[in-house]
Amino acid sequence: MTRTALVTGGSRGIGRAIAVQLAAQGCDVAVNYARRSDAADEVVAAIRSAGGNAMAVGADVSDAAAVDAMFSQIADAFEPATIVVNNAGITRDDLMLRMSVEAFDEVIATNLRSAFLVTKAALRPMMRAKWGRVVCIGSVSGIGGNPGQANYAASKAGLIGFAKSVAKEMGARGITSNVVAPGFIRTDMTEELGADVRDSVASATSLGRFGTPEEVAALVGFLASDAASYITGQVIAVDGGIAI
Ligand code: NDP
Repeated sequence: MTRTALVTGGSRGIGRAIAVQLAAQGCDVAVNYARRSDAADEVVAAIRSAGGNAMAVGADVSDAAAVDAMFSQIADAFEPATIVVNNAGITRDDLMLRMSVEAFDEVIATNLRSAFLVTKAALRPMMRAKWGRVVCIGSVSGIGGNPGQANYAASKAGLIGFAKSVAKEMGARGITSNVVAPGFIRTDMTEELGADVRDSVASATSLGRFGTPEEVAALVGFLASDAASYITGQVIAVDGGIAI
């Protein structure tokens, strides 16, 4: 039976690469997006032209009703998702003294609440299948903290506690749950950084460069596969050996 994978925020950046990777591994892929339907359609077209199967599905994954509607839409087209990649994420950086409550809440809702809503909706089908894979995209900021990112680092640290708890609750059902923690990866999110910041970040890594979305997707693809059946509750960095 073909497995269905849902990638939240699959329309751009790291999520796009994960969607392409999972499709190449033979999954039917639901490519979620928030606003950029054009970008999601392009990912679906790329997957189909490589011989894979995918659909685009719009939903703000911080919104419970939108998440329910998204799962109904996926169920109309594919088998229920037994692979969930909680990738959708945003930054609203500011120093603590200037950070607004709204910027804090928006980041927690988009990056952390979303993982709760999406994973919860996917667990019953995973339990029925006695097989499931939950992968949360964290960040090195959630491990070491980062100035200007109290909201973002808290959301990513929260994902670690979340994923480890799901791992413990669901292990006996054949469901694994892990966090992949990227360092600095070239995407729209990091394009916003100034050239000086980009240079200093690159020189803080052992490999002396930013990573690519495909380098993150390779690990997610492995964790989503049968080969990773004895790996759960882990936080694995893909960060070029960054000093945090
Ligand atoms: P991008 O900004 O390139 O893409 C973000 C994706 O998330 C887009 O597909 C966007 O959809 C989607 N998205 C944003 N908000 C929502 C929402 N409310 N509901 C559904 N989808 C949403 O980000 P990256 O690819 O760089 O980051 C992907 C993940 O990796 C994030 O969780 C990020 O925190 C994490 N990460 C990134 C790092 C980096 O260096 N780039 C480092 C460490 C972690 P749309 O196209 O519709 O806007």
